Amino acid sequence: MTGNPEKNGKLVVISGPSGVGKSTICRQVVEKRDAFLSVSVTTRNPGAAEVNGRDYRFISRDEFEARAGRGEFLEYADVFGNYYGTPRPPVDEAISAGRIVILEIDVQGGLQVKQRCPQAELIFILPPQREDLQKRMDGRGRGEDEQSRKRRLQAAEKEIAAARQHYDHFVVNDDLASAVQDVIDIIDGKRKKYD
Ligand code: ADP
Ligand code: 5GP
Repeated sequence: MTGNPEKNGKLVVISGPSGVGKSTICRQVVEKRDAFLSVSVTTRNPGAAEVNGRDYRFISRDEFEARAGRGEFLEYADVFGNYYGTPRPPVDEAISAGRIVILEIDVQGGLQVKQRCPQAELIFILPPQREDLQKRMDGRGRGEDEQSRKRRLQAAEKEIAAARQHYDHFVVNDDLASAVQDVIDIIDGKRKKYD
């Protein structure tokens, strides 16, 4: 990071298993706090309702590897067989402008961010029950196949275990409004670590 987050804005990482409600929560936090939501770059195919440039920037593996080689990403990782990365310049710019910056990324990426920027707050979203993940994943209407959904559910177990060791805060997304408020309280410094 080129900016100094102590003086400038705040970097917030939101992670959690697929379908737990990360995007829904992030959208509301962005609205309520005028935060900057980073748009990631990915090599996976767009889902049925996804828009290039809004949900992700969808690019080829060749382009991704070239950009990673040029050091254009704040972090990147291979998730479920595709690359995902956070373009660095927009994040630096928003932090320097004093904004709250939200990265909706996986745990591997969250740990890279923490190494580069120890002041970053790492928040992990948990489902009320494991079964809720399956239901919510179906509710996203992405038209994913069975194999892809199965893989994401299995990955959830591993991700939760890794987050328990390294993340600063955990928020259960049962009632959506309460989960959004919990995230805002963390950003505002009203919740201590592990509350
Ligand atoms: P993620 O970004 O973590 O994959 P989404 O934000 O796309 O998850 O949410 C997955 C689905 O779950 C969506 O249909 C969303 O409307 C729904 N959802 C989100 N939060 C809740 C909640 N607290 N209770 C019930 N359904 C929820
Ligand atoms: P999905 O394919 O469901 O949109 O995302 C799959 C996983 O990749 C999610 O855990 C999501 O948070 C993560 N992800 C999205 N963008 C990025 C990114 O830029 N970097 C990393 N490391 N993970 C990301």
